[in-house]
Amino acid sequence: MKTQVLIIDGGFGGVATAQKLHKSGVQTILVDKKDYFEVTYAVLRESTAQGQFKGKSRRYYRDILACQFVQSGVKTLQDNTVLLENDERIEFEQVVIASGSRYPTLPLAKSMDAHSLNDRESELRQHYVQLKDATEILIIGGGVVGVELAGEIAYTFKDKVVTLAHNDKALLYGFSQKAQRKAHQQLEELGVQVKLNSDYQPCTKTLGYQDKGSEDVLKPDMVLCATGTKPNNAFLQENFSHILNYKGLIVVNDRLQVVGQDNFYALGDIADVGEAKLGYLAVEQGKYLAKSIVRKRQGKSVKAYKRHYSPQPAST
Ligand SMILES: Cc1cc2nc3c(=O)[nH]c(=O)nc-3n(C[C@H](O)[C@H](O)[C@H](O)COP(=O)(O)OP(=O)(O)OC[C@H]3O[C@@H](n4cnc5c(N)ncnc54)[C@H](O)[C@@H]3O)c2cc1C
Repeated sequence: MKTQVLIIDGGFGGVATAQKLHKSGVQTILVDKKDYFEVTYAVLRESTAQGQFKGKSRRYYRDILACQFVQSGVKTLQDNTVLLENDERIEFEQVVIASGSRYPTLPLAKSMDAHSLNDRESELRQHYVQLKDATEILIIGGGVVGVELAGEIAYTFKDKVVTLAHNDKALLYGFSQKAQRKAHQQLEELGVQVKLNSDYQPCTKTLGYQDKGSEDVLKPDMVLCATGTKPNNAFLQENFSHILNYKGLIVVNDRLQVVGQDNFYALGDIADVGEAKLGYLAVEQGKYLAKSIVRKRQGKSVKAYKRHYSPQPAST
């Protein structure tokens, strides 16, 4: 296969770029290992919602993309070609790398294995069954995901003991003190036990989770670790490890162009754009990038990307 622009892959950033490029008449192929786009914002609430999905949080790519879609994992990237896990090759003039991030400690948040929409919904239903049966739940990590998860569980299941353990002096690092206090207070009002400055680890002696500092022991029957995302950069390791910084993010200039690789662009959670790692910002970057690529292809000048202010730190 051959295309003018290849998009790797179909998260918020990739889909926004693909939709706008296709609309502008640029030949575009989007590749993703899944057959569906997922709105991550909705997942934590859905995980407590009895497996009843209203059909808006996940959509088949075939229903939202007008450009060509190829379902496969990306194995290796080369200067003008990509090799896919299904052994196909796609030649491109320009590539937009939007491979995002995964959440290895909490696959509930971003699935690692469900490549079909049906599998993803079964995964969420299975999680709901486990959650419903649990009586004592320990959530480790008080960033945005841990705080939201604790709130959703405590709000839905009033009879469960929910503990949120965080290894810092306040929840939501990077937010204003007012926001940190408000989140803490709201969780306590919902009955969540918030344990700050704690480090709970599995302990074979007590058969529970023991805090290193206080030696307090918890005996949860469900533990959910919300301790952060990792960039999806495996397909870059063979030929392009030099475009990654020490965090594994792609280094881009102020036009979201990969430094040292003129026909490569990157955005969203995989790129070091200098903004918070948020879906709505990945969409903004995608819209900007599609416009820039079109202008560049027409030989016109391109303005720098205007970063948005956001109080949230880069890592959730
Ligand atoms: C639980 C949760 C709640 C969130 N809530 C919010 C919120 O309220 N507001 C907000 O703005 N942001 C929120 N975020 C952050 C937001 O989800 C991310 O910033 C956003 O998903 C990043 O988009 P992206 O396009 O860069 O990549 P991603 O959404 O990570 O998409 C990457 C895509 O790449 C595909 N992929 C990866 N590797 C390969 C490969 N080798 N081959 C083929 N395909 C591959 C994946 O299948 C995926 O479709 C939340 C995140 C989580 C986890």
